[in-house]
Amino acid sequence: MASTPETPDAESSSPDASAADSARFDQIVNLAKRRGFVYPSAEIYGGFRSTWDYGPVGVLLLRNVKDAWWKSMVQQRDDVVGLDASILTPPAVWEASGHLSNFTDPLVDCKECGQRWRLDKLDDPNQCPNCKKTGSFTEARNFNLMFSTHAGPVADEGALAYLRPETAQGMFMNFKNIINTTRVRPPFGVAQVGKSFRNEITPGNFVFRTREFEQMEMEYFVHPDDAPKYYEYWKAERERWYLDLGMPREALRLREHEEDELSHYSSATADVEYLFPWGWDELEGIANRGDFDLLAHTKRSGERLDWFDQAENVRYVPHVIEPAAGATRTAFAFLLAAYDVEEVRGEERVVLRLHPRLAPYKVAVLPLSKKSPLRETAQTLAAELRDEWSCEYDETQAIGRRYRRQDELGTPYCVTVDFDTAEDQAVTIRERDSMEQVRIPLAGVADWLRPRLK
Ligand code: ATP
Repeated sequence: MASTPETPDAESSSPDASAADSARFDQIVNLAKRRGFVYPSAEIYGGFRSTWDYGPVGVLLLRNVKDAWWKSMVQQRDDVVGLDASILTPPAVWEASGHLSNFTDPLVDCKECGQRWRLDKLDDPNQCPNCKKTGSFTEARNFNLMFSTHAGPVADEGALAYLRPETAQGMFMNFKNIINTTRVRPPFGVAQVGKSFRNEITPGNFVFRTREFEQMEMEYFVHPDDAPKYYEYWKAERERWYLDLGMPREALRLREHEEDELSHYSSATADVEYLFPWGWDELEGIANRGDFDLLAHTKRSGERLDWFDQAENVRYVPHVIEPAAGATRTAFAFLLAAYDVEEVRGEERVVLRLHPRLAPYKVAVLPLSKKSPLRETAQTLAAELRDEWSCEYDETQAIGRRYRRQDELGTPYCVTVDFDTAEDQAVTIRERDSMEQVRIPLAGVADWLRPRLK
């Protein structure tokens, strides 16, 4: 991928995207702001360096992505437990993990125009993508991506802390606690969803690369002999997760890393990639981390982080398979994949074809009139549905415009309470993708929706 220069709110698509892809990207970014998915952070002060806030609709989409991940990775399994570890971390953790010395990106400055770039992400390492000058770069400097701060009132060396650049270390920090306090035994996993921070040299492409983002990571601890098997297993599982949630097959791929791409801790890594408007790019990395982390922390902390197999009477250091995904990046990819524009009776219809599990609102209740008894009937129905799903209620504007608004929010079903409802105790349900309408009993709406929203 070509890098974008750092600007206060770098958000346009990359220079190598085709004009059509670039226009589509801009439309989606525009929709995201217009409909309350994502707002520039601190916008009244002009925004702040590629930070974004998730609005009333975006927070639902993001939460649904995280919930879908948690459900498949934790709730539906008997071999994975959850964790929520702290973001503030002492330096010892990052010394041992190798992040203090290795978590760096090569930074170059263009002497001609002053732009900064991440060298490993440039298409041509000799040419500045901004001013096009060749041979104008400074020597590459290794720039550590971790944010540091101080814990407590005195900003001295002893108070130095880091904002975690990944959630994974929380799992290694708690390995001993978890094996001592729960009934897990290898193979088992520890999963976590939460914020991570990286002082990225070139954030951009909207929420694709930001300095503050959310990750969904799981460390799966296995007997060393089983690591290759579970590496294959998790690659297949994770690819299936995206497909099950509606990612188009042709826009998703697994790509095995070349030897020279591997991180300092990994013996094998594959990325799940999505075909972004600027080309294939990473959604998730699945890595075989071996025994690197547990050994490194055992050495640094003096605590023995291993497993005693009572049946076999042997001790071993489990190997780790890690599927590490980005929640914010993945939510964005689902938004891109869902965006569709079609012509309906001579008019353009914008529709987000999100999987019902990801859709911010599952249903909207729309009374044809604000008058009694339509309003009361509709409000009672909305209150009933809210018990199970996030539900929109909208009584303003013409019905056609209300449908279009729900289409842009990705709401799978709209329930219309009309003038016949008082007579026949029935409502009309309109399906988002086909726009087909069915009339069903008012009392049966929740039962009708339930299997369709699973
Ligand atoms: P990249 O090569 O894009 O910098 P990475 O390989 O360093 O990413 P990992 O350390 O494997 O990323 O992190 C796991 C996941 O976390 C990534 O696949 C991505 O979805 C997400 N992620 C990492 N960095 C960012 C970021 N700056 N903004 C948003 N999501 C991120």
